[in-house]
Amino acid sequence: MQLNYIANTSVASSSGLTLPVIDPSDGQPFDAIQRSNAADIDSAVLAARQCLEGPWARINAAERGRLLMKLSAAVTAHAAELALLEQRDCGKPTKQAQADATALARYFEYYAGACDKLHGDTLPYLDGYSVLTWREPHGVTGHIVPWNYPMQIFGRSVGGALAAGNTCVVKPAEDACLSLIRVAQLAAEVGFPPGAINIVTGYGHEVGDALARHPGIDHISFTGSPSVGTLIQQVAAERHCPVTLELGGKSPQIVFADADLDAVIPTVINAIVQNAGQTCSAGSRLLVEDAIYEPLLARLGKAFEALRVGPATLDLDVGPLIRASQKIRVEGFLADAAAAGIGTVAQGRIVDEAPASGFYQAPTLLRDVPVDHRIAQEEVFGPVLAAMRFHGEDEAVALANATQFGLVAGVWTRDGSRQLRMAKRVRSGQVFINNYGAGGGVELPFGGVKSSGYGREKGFEALYGFTTLKTVAIRHG
Ligand code: NAD
Repeated sequence: MQLNYIANTSVASSSGLTLPVIDPSDGQPFDAIQRSNAADIDSAVLAARQCLEGPWARINAAERGRLLMKLSAAVTAHAAELALLEQRDCGKPTKQAQADATALARYFEYYAGACDKLHGDTLPYLDGYSVLTWREPHGVTGHIVPWNYPMQIFGRSVGGALAAGNTCVVKPAEDACLSLIRVAQLAAEVGFPPGAINIVTGYGHEVGDALARHPGIDHISFTGSPSVGTLIQQVAAERHCPVTLELGGKSPQIVFADADLDAVIPTVINAIVQNAGQTCSAGSRLLVEDAIYEPLLARLGKAFEALRVGPATLDLDVGPLIRASQKIRVEGFLADAAAAGIGTVAQGRIVDEAPASGFYQAPTLLRDVPVDHRIAQEEVFGPVLAAMRFHGEDEAVALANATQFGLVAGVWTRDGSRQLRMAKRVRSGQVFINNYGAGGGVELPFGGVKSSGYGREKGFEALYGFTTLKTVAIRHG
């Protein structure tokens, strides 16, 4: 049984209720989390406030950095344990779960080094004045985390917030709590004061909503669906609480005829099957210049047919989806595509060892998807790649920008001038040229435009979002 973690103490919810923890690989419950309520959020926010105004206020930037570095080391020392927790909780194949634990340690390491490099400025102004700016923490920050990359999103969000001097109340997704509760315990063990990191589990519409509405929360960092992002914005607007929103995407991989297809093929496949396609930055649309459309689809089709799907511990190309409702959702998209006459080029195979009660979905490559079909417009959040053809740069740009989203784009061409033209014309928060994701670097600011959200996480840039700027003007004559 998992408990909330508030003020460095494991506590049951005052609701007396729990939720089952389901293993996506076999669909069976194996643990339970607290189904918390608004009173639990009150306790967590109070603990975070007392920490902010008490011990946390006395810990200077360099000391915060040392604490974060110790936490990074603790995560590294417990990486195997954390990866196993997340693997069972989220159905992640072994290498992916291990990579996520490594990334978590790296986020804490990166933000450890940044703590004492975040500073304000001095500004030239009128004679007789000195003007300076201070970067101050918001205060108590709320973090609503999704289930697809709990450790990575916790690392970038909580790591940045702590580095900037905030304290944190975290609401993990109801499907993915185990690793984050353990990380909060590790933080206590390395010396984070009670209340610096608090974890409260439960349903989004109950405890997530209570967190977003709480008057003691000074900033909200939300990663999840556009519809919940809208709710968060509305709730936060009532008390003018700043928010950072990361709401996913429908990201294009744009392949011109002069591209190096040997590099394109494995990258395009990884970008849609990684984490079973449940990645906000998944490359879920494949835009191909017509001269190479058929040959590229033929090669990709062969590669899709070779993909194997199975239980997380088998560490195949693809693990299960997170839960039964997500599988139903993905199947619904595929059924709509079939009903619209959209052709399937190829599918991967679910291995015989996969229990029928698990949430498996074969990776699927679709061809000639009309730009206005929902499979070309909406986030499927499954291993489904929608291919379309284009003729020339203008049509490539028009297709790339023809969704409500704008998170990430990949451009594949050897033409240097075209690389830069495309990078300028595509509307998204990140553009990758002849690669996709650049290895996920924690240093690289990440976030969207349009319905992909706003604000930036990752990199040094995130620290500006986790602070507020105070201008101090001194008239000294
Ligand atoms: P979601 O937006 O419902 O959940 C994300 C987080 O928000 C979870 O912690 C959830 O408990 C919480 N939440 C839900 N309702 C809330 C509310 N009313 N107030 C406050 N918090 C609330 O996403 P989901 O149901 O887990 O997934 C649905 C879809 O969202 C996916 O299919 C995918 O398209 C998208 N998604 C995107 C990302 C991303 O990284 N951008 C991550 C997860 C899901």
